[in-house]
Amino acid sequence: MSDWRKTLDELAEAGLLRRPVTVEGAQGPHVRVNGADYVCFCSNNYLGLANHPKLIEAAKAAADEYGTGSGASRLVSGTMAIHRELEDAVARFKGAEAAIVFPTGYMANVGTIPALAGKGDTIFCDRLNHASIFDGCRLSGATLRVYAHKDAAKLDDLLAREREGRALVVTDTVFSMDGDLAPLPDLVDVCERRGAMLMIDEAHATGVLGANGRGAAEHFGLHARRLADGGQECPPHQSEDETAPVAPAFSSSAPNDLIVMGTLSKAAGSLGGYVAGSRDLIDLLVNKARSFIYTTALPPAVCGASMAALRIIEQEPERREALWARTKQLQDGLRSLGLEIGPTQTPITPVIVGESDAAVELSAKLFERGILAPAIRPPTVPEGAARIRLTPMATHTPDDIDALLAALR
Ligand code: PMP
Repeated sequence: MSDWRKTLDELAEAGLLRRPVTVEGAQGPHVRVNGADYVCFCSNNYLGLANHPKLIEAAKAAADEYGTGSGASRLVSGTMAIHRELEDAVARFKGAEAAIVFPTGYMANVGTIPALAGKGDTIFCDRLNHASIFDGCRLSGATLRVYAHKDAAKLDDLLAREREGRALVVTDTVFSMDGDLAPLPDLVDVCERRGAMLMIDEAHATGVLGANGRGAAEHFGLHARRLADGGQECPPHQSEDETAPVAPAFSSSAPNDLIVMGTLSKAAGSLGGYVAGSRDLIDLLVNKARSFIYTTALPPAVCGASMAALRIIEQEPERREALWARTKQLQDGLRSLGLEIGPTQTPITPVIVGESDAAVELSAKLFERGILAPAIRPPTVPEGAARIRLTPMATHTPDDIDALLAALR
C-alpha cells in the first residue's frame, strides 16, 4: 500500500476524508448534482451574483475587448487597463486612497502579511482567524501570538507583554465558520494605544454588512471614527458618476491606517482578493507581496465581472435586505427547532453537531432530502466542533428556507 493510500485510509477512518461534489450547472440558490435539483445552503454567493446576467455580460465584454488571459505577472506586462479600473473601483467602494487586487483572497492574505511583518516582528491573531491568515503569518517568519477569540483585553495584555519589533494585529471581521463579528472598535482602540498595525479580513462582510455593503468597517462606523484623525468624510457612493473621486476614509498621515483586506469571490460572485488602504501601503504591497509579484494577473473577464458586482452591491440594497430577511427566517426557525447555532450575527449559520462522523451523517441525510450542505470538519473547525455551515442567499425563496427547516425537523 502506498503512503498516500495509507494517509487517505487514516483520514477515512477518522471521518475526515473529503470528496467534492460536482455542481453540473451554474451556482445559484438551487444547483444540479448528479442530474438532480438541490437547494444549495453552503455557498458564499450571498447575494446570488455568481450567475447574474450583468456580471456575465461584463465578463463577456471584457473578454471581447481584452481577450482571455493577462499573459504575464502584474509587474511584467500583465497589468492591463482593466486591472487599474478594478483597483480604482475597489478603492472607491471601500472609501480608501488606493487598492491592489490579487488573484484570490487567499493570496491577498499570504502576500500581504509577510510584506508587513517579518523576522523580529510580532503578529497577533485571533484564534479563529481564517487559514489563509495563519498561513501568511507562518510565511512571514514573524513571531506569532494567538489571542482568545474576540478578546480585546487579552490582545491588549499580549501587546504590552509579548511584543517584539513591529506589531501587526490581524482579524477576520466576520468569522467564517461561526458568523460572529470581531469587536472592531475595541481592537482599533487597543491598536491605536499600543501603536500596532491593524489588518482586517472583510471576506464575509463585503457586500453583506454596512448600509452600502462596504463591510464591517462601515457597519461599525469606523470610517467616521478614523475621521477624527484628520481624514475627510467619506460620502455615500455616487452611482450616477462613477468617476467622481471619493475622499479617503482613513487619513493617509495617521500612523495606524487600517489595512482592509477582502475578496471578490463571495458576495461579489466573482474572484480576486483585494487590499485597500493608504497609497503608501498599496505601493509597498506592489513591491513586496510575493503572491502579487510572482503570479499571473487576473483574467480580464473576472475583472469585468467584479466591477459589475460592486455596482450592484451599491445600487441594489434590496439584495442585502433579502439576504438578511432569509437569514432571520432561517435562524429563528433553527432556534425554534432547538438546534445549537452558536453566536452568529450574520448569515453564516453553523449547526454545531460535534463529532465529524455525526456531521457527515447529517449532511448525507439532508442530501437525501434535496439539500446541499456538506459537513465542515477539523482542521477547518476545532476538534469536537464539526458542523453543517448553512448560508442563506438573497435569492433563496421563503419556501427554500422552509424546505431546509422541514428536512432538519
Ligand atoms: N479570508 C476568509 C475569512 C475566508 O473565509 C476566505 C475564503 N474561504 C478567504 C480569506 C480566502 O478568499 P478566497 O476564497 O477569495 O481565496
